[in-house]
Amino acid sequence: MMEPVALAISLAEKIMKIMLSTLRLPSGDEVGDILKNLGLEELCLRGGIGVYRSRDLIALLIPRESLVIDVISSSGDLSDALEIVVYRDRKLNALILEILPANDIEYEGNIGLEPVIIDAETGELLSNPVLGEVNEEEGGVVLVIDGETYERWSKSGKLDTCPVCGGELRWKNDRAVCLDCGYEIKVVRK
Ligand SMILES: [Zn+2]
Repeated sequence: MMEPVALAISLAEKIMKIMLSTLRLPSGDEVGDILKNLGLEELCLRGGIGVYRSRDLIALLIPRESLVIDVISSSGDLSDALEIVVYRDRKLNALILEILPANDIEYEGNIGLEPVIIDAETGELLSNPVLGEVNEEEGGVVLVIDGETYERWSKSGKLDTCPVCGGELRWKNDRAVCLDCGYEIKVVRK
């Protein structure tokens, strides 16, 4: 069973990569393509607004000056729904991506993800988001991160904190498991 947070993390990583290489916000079409590559089917696309779904999830894509992507369980339960907001902050001259609970009051978890902040001029990543690809494997859900992400995370001094839920991580070599949400984190160096 894929949860909204799993899709949100995978999607956020791919959007971050586009912003790092192009120094602009992705277009609605680009985000739609990412969603399709992540296994969602496009149900409807009208006036730029797209609705996508997989067996477990529904994603609603609203491109305006900023981009908003809502990810909801297909059961319609809002308690774990998330919203990804991607925008340019003119004051900071930065490209920003945040993952927020879509419903603050009902959200059951604790979203521990740091926002992506990219200097829009130099393309430098100014924050330490722990993003990667989330896969369902035998035995559970695994967030696969690369060596670069691990190094940044390590320098931020927060290696003990689960990026998914804010819980406590237990490390063994290149793998960690969260004692609270059960997600596993795997470092894969290229
Ligand atoms: Zn956790």
